[in-house]
Amino acid sequence: MAVEPVMPKSWRLESKPHKFCPGCGHGIALKALGLAIDELGIQDRTVFGCDIGCSLLAWDFFNMDTVQTHHGRTTPVIYGVKRANPELICIAYMGDGGGYAIGAQHLVNAAARNELITVVLVNNTQYAMTGGQMAPTTLPGQKTETTPYGRDVLTAGYPMRGPEMIAEITPDGAYVARGTVARSRQLGNMLVRALENQLSGRGFSFVEVLATCPTNWRTNAQQTWSFLENTVENYYPVGELKIPLSDPEEEM
Ligand code: SF4
Repeated sequence: MAVEPVMPKSWRLESKPHKFCPGCGHGIALKALGLAIDELGIQDRTVFGCDIGCSLLAWDFFNMDTVQTHHGRTTPVIYGVKRANPELICIAYMGDGGGYAIGAQHLVNAAARNELITVVLVNNTQYAMTGGQMAPTTLPGQKTETTPYGRDVLTAGYPMRGPEMIAEITPDGAYVARGTVARSRQLGNMLVRALENQLSGRGFSFVEVLATCPTNWRTNAQQTWSFLENTVENYYPVGELKIPLSDPEEEM
């Protein structure tokens, strides 16, 4: 008997199957986000913003109000929406280029100001839509289109550890975590807690999602998961980096 796939209620079914490559991590991240939105029952009051890059393929993913922004500008567009109507739940969805390169100034300042939004940033260690060039998250020694001999940290610097930085610059009340598409249930719990942080008015919430890009990694299925779980997760530890002091679960 065929098993029917479970689709989040907040997904827009007419736009499925989605447009990502087979094996892409975005679909898993967006499913975890959709299920988190379903669990909290916030679909009717949520605004979803997505960036340029492969994350823009999420523009028709949800049956919710959605805006697709200029590259790197998803964070300020989304906190502009939030400031205009604080009753809305506002989510900014982007890749590592949009958040840590062209949009880094917006992300840093929104985090430092403790803007009441939720940022979900997909880290697949390179610029995916443009063909796999080095990004701020490319690992030391990792080969990309622009680092054919591997990233040399002496000339290209070290990768950016976004959640670690954001945990340092945010005030108490922020929620910061790093999840992985290899553990979607854990990722889903992080996304629920991030959205709850916004719902409760505690502060900024940020979840980085380690994700697969077999197209640009040039890996088969086994190599893809091995690279994610054994190499990427080793460099970028998964877990919660900052939990609000007033988090009810921590007080238990
Ligand atoms: S290029 Fe990579 S990140 Fe973009 S859709 Fe394909 S697998 Fe996903």
